[in-house]
Amino acid sequence: MAHLRNVGKSMCHNYIHCFKTDLYFYRQCHNLKIIIIIIIIIIIIIIIIIIIIMMMMMHPHFNKANPYYQLQRSHQVIIFRLRTGHNRLNSFFHTKLGIDASDQCPCLSAALTTDNILQTCPNCDHLRSKTRPETLHRKLYGNLSDLQNSAAFIEETGLFV
Ligand SMILES: [Zn+2]
Repeated sequence: MAHLRNVGKSMCHNYIHCFKTDLYFYRQCHNLKIIIIIIIIIIIIIIIIIIIIMMMMMHPHFNKANPYYQLQRSHQVIIFRLRTGHNRLNSFFHTKLGIDASDQCPCLSAALTTDNILQTCPNCDHLRSKTRPETLHRKLYGNLSDLQNSAAFIEETGLFV
């Protein structure tokens, strides 16, 4: 009997001990949950701030020094595609995507590239005389008037870039 009583006491003791330990871990876990929630909230706030800053950077009112952002949307698209070379001209379709039979310009003088249209293609000579800048760099990265002229020139050629 004495032996059993001792076992009972020790079980009881262990039970209280376990209960205390559980409580300890519960508090620890609870604190951990709060810390994780706070970290997640901080990350979300940082992401929102980054998105707001990026939107502000792209907005014309915050880019008065950059003429690209002063262009109308359709001209922005043309200039962006000409600058990056990712466009619907034969050269990109043929060499990068492999879906056009040839990269040649209809004038057959060279590959149909940004440089060819804006600078050298004889088919566009009559239209090109209206665009004032001489260098390709100025046509793509010049002031607002240069960029507008380049975009208008592309529209007049009837090419889809
Ligand atoms: Zn040509």
